[in-house]
Amino acid sequence: MLDRSNELTAWDRDHFFHPSTHMGGHARGETPTRVVAGGEGVYITDTTGRKSLDAFAGLYCVNVGYGRQKIADAIAEQAKNLAYYHAYVGHGTEASITLSKMIIDRAAPAGMSRVYFGLSGSDANETNIKLIWYYNNILGRPEKKKIISRWRGYHGSGVMTGSLTGLALFHNAFDLPRAPVLHTEAPYYFRRPDRSMSEEQFSQYCADKLEEMIIAEGPETIAAFIGEPILGTGGIVPPPKTYWQKIQAVLDKYDILLVADEVVTGFGRLGTMFGSDHYGMKPDLITIAKGLTSAYAPLSGTIVSNKMWQVLVQGSDQLGAIGHGWTYSAHPICAAAGIANLELIDELGIVENAGATGAYFRSELAKAVGGHRNVGEVRGDGLMAAVEFVEDKDDRRFFDAGRKIGPQVASALLERGVIGRAMPQGDILGFAPPLCLTREEADIVVKAAADAIETVFKNI
Ligand code: PLP
Repeated sequence: MLDRSNELTAWDRDHFFHPSTHMGGHARGETPTRVVAGGEGVYITDTTGRKSLDAFAGLYCVNVGYGRQKIADAIAEQAKNLAYYHAYVGHGTEASITLSKMIIDRAAPAGMSRVYFGLSGSDANETNIKLIWYYNNILGRPEKKKIISRWRGYHGSGVMTGSLTGLALFHNAFDLPRAPVLHTEAPYYFRRPDRSMSEEQFSQYCADKLEEMIIAEGPETIAAFIGEPILGTGGIVPPPKTYWQKIQAVLDKYDILLVADEVVTGFGRLGTMFGSDHYGMKPDLITIAKGLTSAYAPLSGTIVSNKMWQVLVQGSDQLGAIGHGWTYSAHPICAAAGIANLELIDELGIVENAGATGAYFRSELAKAVGGHRNVGEVRGDGLMAAVEFVEDKDDRRFFDAGRKIGPQVASALLERGVIGRAMPQGDILGFAPPLCLTREEADIVVKAAADAIETVFKNI
């Protein structure tokens, strides 16, 4: 194949506005451009022929791995037969209707009723907030509108979803967060305020903080709480023991809805079909995206509980058709990809693999790097893992952000043929490989990580 890397790199710097990229640095050629050309299993290849083991599955989304013929065929077949029809005013396609049934059959916990399809995790969370406001208006509680999310939570980067996100990078100079969004304590046990707290005590502390906020604001003004079962972009932080039970009790006490943002955890990443199952959450809405199609096509969804659905139906009986929809909602090509992907998840048994290989990977990673003087913690759950770096192991001091320790380790890892992700806040190296990862591939990631960490910190 003709190597067009130089030409593409020049066009890229001149014309392509990349998301989550240093704009000036990239345009000036200070940061590398990587033109990705192919993928097979857990590997990607670029136009220079360089192959990397993608231990972040793209953006924790290519769950079944790259190059799956079954999904490609389903997309091609759907494009040939019917590339598009909308879903407004009761229209459907065989693909979109079938996929909604497959999702509800798999959805956790019981009591889920309908799926509204969007295209991204961000737009699905926008839908959630509108449905929550509509719900409370129909119930005659127009003041119950505030949404509580957590510091370090990630829920997207739109106006509302960027507000829900609790990471400074996504707020700075965008005039976010906007009302009516509030942020409460992150369940970040490693950085708890008092080291003598047990996991249960810290969970109680987080639940107490939440309750204080609800009381201070007035429970009649708080509509919902949104959280990822395990914090993802905020640092891959699993909840401390009993966290969700304690949070759920507070929400139930004040009649506050729970949105489980399962964009990362939905469809197997924690070794269970949904993270809500895994941690015993009882959500009223579930956000899904990434793993729904393994990113072979853009598709997201809002799974609505029976409890909310009954009120939404009452709403349209009073007001007429719901004034919400996107041109590409339930796009048939994306739905066909979703069906093939969910079938493949079952055929390959990758939910079970995520649990078993995930446990192996995390334990090998902890053995290999946990003792390093600059590794504060190795943590994770299922096939999600993080290594947090500290300047001093005893006082858990952060490195100065300007030293970019996390990105340095991620670059050293890439030089060793493995992709990990420098998480955006703190010096944290994240892993979320495809769920079809084998033990041999896990060993490759662990060895490269240990070597990269050793090399970077030798010079620090
Ligand atoms: N919610 C969570 C938990 C996510 O991790 C993400 C993206 O990483 C989103 C929402 C936003 O999804 P998207 O990037 O598809 O808009």
